Amino acid sequence: MTSIVVLGSTNMDLVAYVPRAPALGETVTGRSFRTIPGGKGANQAVAAARAGAEVAMIGAIGTDGFGAQLRATLEHCAVDTDLLRTVEGPSGTAHIVVDDEGGNAIVVVPGANGTVTSLTHGDEALIGTADTLLLQLELPLPVVVEGAATARRLGVRTVLTPSPAQPLPPELLAATDLLVPNEHEAAALTGLADPRAAAEALLRDVPEVVITLGAAGSLYAARGAEPVAVPAPRVRAVDTTGAGDTFVGALAVALGEGRPAPEALAWAQTAAALSVRREGASTSMPYRVDIEAAFR
Ligand code: ATP
Repeated sequence: MTSIVVLGSTNMDLVAYVPRAPALGETVTGRSFRTIPGGKGANQAVAAARAGAEVAMIGAIGTDGFGAQLRATLEHCAVDTDLLRTVEGPSGTAHIVVDDEGGNAIVVVPGANGTVTSLTHGDEALIGTADTLLLQLELPLPVVVEGAATARRLGVRTVLTPSPAQPLPPELLAATDLLVPNEHEAAALTGLADPRAAAEALLRDVPEVVITLGAAGSLYAARGAEPVAVPAPRVRAVDTTGAGDTFVGALAVALGEGRPAPEALAWAQTAAALSVRREGASTSMPYRVDIEAAFR
C-alpha cells in the first residue's frame, strides 16, 4: 500500500441553488441548499484513500459544528486525522451560489485553514513516513513552501496542485517533483494558452508536469522526453466538481505503486471519469474496486 500525506485545506461548502445569482444589495429566494464537505486538501485525501492508499491529513478545522462534521467525514473515509488541528473559531467555508445555468459565484473564507502557518515536529515526522506529499494553495503560502522543502529534504515525492492560481515562489517550484495545473492554471502561470507550450515552459522549473484538460484528458511532460497526451474516457458528465482532486488523488496512488506515468494518468482519468458521472465532489469519488473494474 502506498502512503500519502496531504498538507491542505478542509472546508465546508455551503451551496445555495438559485434561479439567478443576486446582484450586490439584492435578495433572491433560493430553490434549495446543501452542505458538502470539501476543501482541495480534504478532497484529495478522500480520493487517494478511496483509490487504495494509506492517507493522513495535516491541516486545521474550527471549533464550530462544521469542524466536527469535517473531521468525521475524513475519518469515515479512513483518512488519519491525528495531526488535523482543532483551533478556536470557525472552520473554513466556501459560500457557493449555483444558478439554473450551472454558473457559480464563490466566496471562500479560510477560517481555521488560515492558522496553519508552520509545521510542528509531529508534522515533519509524519511527512517523513510518506511516499508522497500532496500540496495545494489553499493554506498560507509559507507552510506550503515549508511542507514541500521538508518533503524534499526527507526524500518524499512532492505533487503540487497550483490552485487557486497565483504566482509560485521559486523555492516552492524548486521543491516540487510533479506540478499538476489544469489548463487555466497552466495558462495563468506561463501566459501561454497552448498546453504543450505551457508544459514546456513549466519544465524549466519542475522536472515533471501534468496539465489536466477536462473532458479532453491530460498531457504529461517530463524533461528530455516527448509530451504524451492521454485522452479521457468518454462519459456523460453530470457534475465535474472535484474531478481535478479525484484525478490528483488517484494519480498519486498509481505513481506511488510504481505504474509508469502514461498508465498512471490513464488510471487516474478512469477514476476522474467515474466521479463526473455522479453529483457532488468527495461524495462522488470512486473506490479502488470500481476504478480497477472500469480500467480493464
Ligand atoms: P475541478 O476544478 O472541476 O475539480 P479541474 O479544472 O481542476 O477540475 P479538469 O481538467 O476539469 O480539472 O479535470 C480533471 C480531470 O478529470 C481530467 O483530466 C479528466 O481526466 C477528468 N474529467 C473532467 N471532466 C471530464 C469529463 N467531462 N469527462 C471525462 N473526464 C473528465
